[in-house]
Amino acid sequence: MFNIRVLILLLVLLLGILFVYLHHEWRPTSFIPQTNTHRDRLSAEVTVNQIFHLVAPDHLKYKQPSIVHGRTDVVTLAPWLAPVIWEGTFNPVLLDSIYQSKNITVAATVFAVGKYIRFLKKFLETAERFFFVGFRVNIYVFTDRPKEVPRVQMSAGRKVVVHSVPSSDRWQEISARRMELIQNLIEEVQNSTDYIFCLDVDSEFHGRWGSESLGGLVAVIHPGYYRDDRGRFPYERRPASRAYVADGEGDFYYCGGAFGGLLQEVHLLAKTCHLNFKADAEEGIEAAWQEESHLNRYMWINKPSKILSPEYLWQDFKPRNPEIHIIRFSGVVKNYADIRPNV
Ligand code: UDP
Ligand code: MN
Repeated sequence: MFNIRVLILLLVLLLGILFVYLHHEWRPTSFIPQTNTHRDRLSAEVTVNQIFHLVAPDHLKYKQPSIVHGRTDVVTLAPWLAPVIWEGTFNPVLLDSIYQSKNITVAATVFAVGKYIRFLKKFLETAERFFFVGFRVNIYVFTDRPKEVPRVQMSAGRKVVVHSVPSSDRWQEISARRMELIQNLIEEVQNSTDYIFCLDVDSEFHGRWGSESLGGLVAVIHPGYYRDDRGRFPYERRPASRAYVADGEGDFYYCGGAFGGLLQEVHLLAKTCHLNFKADAEEGIEAAWQEESHLNRYMWINKPSKILSPEYLWQDFKPRNPEIHIIRFSGVVKNYADIRPNV
């Protein structure tokens, strides 16, 4: 009798061990990237799907693509195979329908400190007409004059958010602080935003700037130097600076007035440029073109995954070159002595 009880007990125990064995999760879970953002808490598979998987609506009608006919007057791929976006290289209808279904939110930052507040109205009005039309857009305005921010009617899903910043009597300081404030903003909005673009306020939109510009790390080619030899690019040339780019190095000269990409990418860029700027300042060095120099150094090492042609930041005073089929965003002509706090 006793032996049968022991036998049953042993059997139950064995069954128990077998049950636990069969139901145990043996696969290690640690290869799924663990970070603390809301989006990253989803499985790695879902994250990849959200960002890179391009789903077009069934039966969408659009012009047949070709690999033998297209723009021949410009280069549309960087040597590291990042696309260079020119008018005629993409289909806006197709791209918009792909990105609409992802339900993305795009942020833009713009600084309007001191007299630069005067540029804000046109910037906001034209952004409403041309910047990611039909998408959820939040424009973050950083200003020391929050009461003077113009009221611009925005359509549903789009808004202007005002952040107060201190005034400054040196424009170089305003320019230098941008990266730190962008870094902080990204930390604030990371759960609700997918992409961010950081733009100069002394500019206006004249044509579409939309989903074709989305990418990991996105840089805009400066309109002033893209036909020049890189020896003539205004990089920081003193080796003592952390923005130093040596002679014979560098790919393109990129704009400080427009850059962007995925939140995580722009966060790393802003953080790195800010730290390098600060470390330089502690040694009494200010790079030739402040954060534009640091951005150029960063982009030389961290290659942008998408490059926007000078269509995406032209300058009003420059006559349009033949390869520029459309000007999408352009810096207005301004009198520095009149608007900057110092010369
Ligand atoms: N900025 C500002 N107030 C200033 C100087 C600069 O708000 O007194 C901001 C503004 O967003 C401006 C950007 O910093 O667009 C870069 O400065 P700026 O446009 O003068 O540089 P540039 O494009 O002429 O090189
Ligand atoms: Mn500017």
